[in-house]
Amino acid sequence: MPRIAPLLGRVFINVTIQTRTGLHIGASGTDFNIGGRDKLVIRDPLTNQPYIPGSSLRGKMRSLLEKKEQLPQNHRINKGHIHVCKTPDDFLVCPVCRVFGIPAPSSGDAWGDVITLTRLVVRDTGLSEGEAERLLAAHTDGLYTEFKTEVAIDRVTSVANPRTIERVPAGVRFGPVEMVFNVFEKEDVANLRVVLEGLQLVEDDYLGGSGSRGYGRVTFQKIRIFVRNMKNYGKKDPVAKYETLEEWDQDFEAFLQRVREALGLEG
Ligand SMILES: [Zn+2]
Repeated sequence: MPRIAPLLGRVFINVTIQTRTGLHIGASGTDFNIGGRDKLVIRDPLTNQPYIPGSSLRGKMRSLLEKKEQLPQNHRINKGHIHVCKTPDDFLVCPVCRVFGIPAPSSGDAWGDVITLTRLVVRDTGLSEGEAERLLAAHTDGLYTEFKTEVAIDRVTSVANPRTIERVPAGVRFGPVEMVFNVFEKEDVANLRVVLEGLQLVEDDYLGGSGSRGYGRVTFQKIRIFVRNMKNYGKKDPVAKYETLEEWDQDFEAFLQRVREALGLEG
């Protein structure tokens, strides 16, 4: 039986996401709606506003990190393969699995006390305050969105098949998105570097669909980081504040030191 992970504390990373190009994160099941022509964005059913699912951001961070680290795509899921460390020896030195977790190992014995739980949780995030009003005032062609026509050519019949893609326009802010980093072991703190790298990789790539057409460029801004330690969980200590990922990167070693102090992991 795996032991219960002794949580040492949590690091909260709040980040505002700004779109630099149109963003299309698709709603599943809407790709072939009326006439099969509109690809719609995912919306919060209560507010009807577009949002960024935490799983989209987290999944993109993970897959770009796997590529950067050249990790084997060795685990089959529905549509393809992902990377999952299969032995404790691999896991203990794998920056990706140690942060994003792996499915509970079936043969528990070899894994002993190794904590395979996910460290990083990414919450869903909606439009930033004031953005919905601003988009309404801009009279875009969709509700908080715009439609762009793309022409796809049917490879068999050569028939041009225009369809419209709904997207959140460029220059729109989401969040702050809350990312929660669980610290189970002292060594986890250094892996906050993996979270920063994942965000850097997404900035250089894209979020959502049609990235090859230039969609989904984003920047991460207004980074606010807090820590809760287990001795005084009611208190959320602010430990850092950066305007860009670059600023965070430049201060990284000092930042780690402050996180360790706030978690009471010194000495
Ligand atoms: Zn791994």
